[in-house]
Amino acid sequence: MSEELSIDGLSEDLKKKGIHPSYHRLKILEYLMQNKTHPTADMIYKELSKEIPPLSKTTVYNSLKLFLKRGIIQELTIEEKEVRYDADTRPHAHFKCTECGNVIDMAIEPPTLNPERVVEGHKVTECHLYLKGVCKNCLKNPKK
Ligand SMILES: [Zn+2]
Ligand SMILES: [Zn+2]
Repeated sequence: MSEELSIDGLSEDLKKKGIHPSYHRLKILEYLMQNKTHPTADMIYKELSKEIPPLSKTTVYNSLKLFLKRGIIQELTIEEKEVRYDADTRPHAHFKCTECGNVIDMAIEPPTLNPERVVEGHKVTECHLYLKGVCKNCLKNPKK
């Protein structure tokens, strides 16, 4: 990953949101920012527990819940049973490949994606646009 991330910077971000920047929380946030794969909590746990062994699943779940509550990350529910997480909270669309299951960011602005907008008297705070199809890698290498 080319993007330079500093643990000190992340630590400041967490403190600003009123979250104590524990080592595990920092690692989880760092993982989400470095991996734009929109991982599930299980994927984060599997990857990070190799690197920082005394990590528990509960810590991962609780940290994600806390980040979500404070608006540091967003939750993607493309499939009901599979919640994914994204450290990019700017409004953007997501594309899920039905072949490999990868979730990719798309540079299209969903139509009503202006947070805090009022539509017909209702205050809109979130708008998610999920697209599905076959990604370009799977199109190039179709499964036999
Ligand atoms: Zn694919
Ligand atoms: Zn995204």
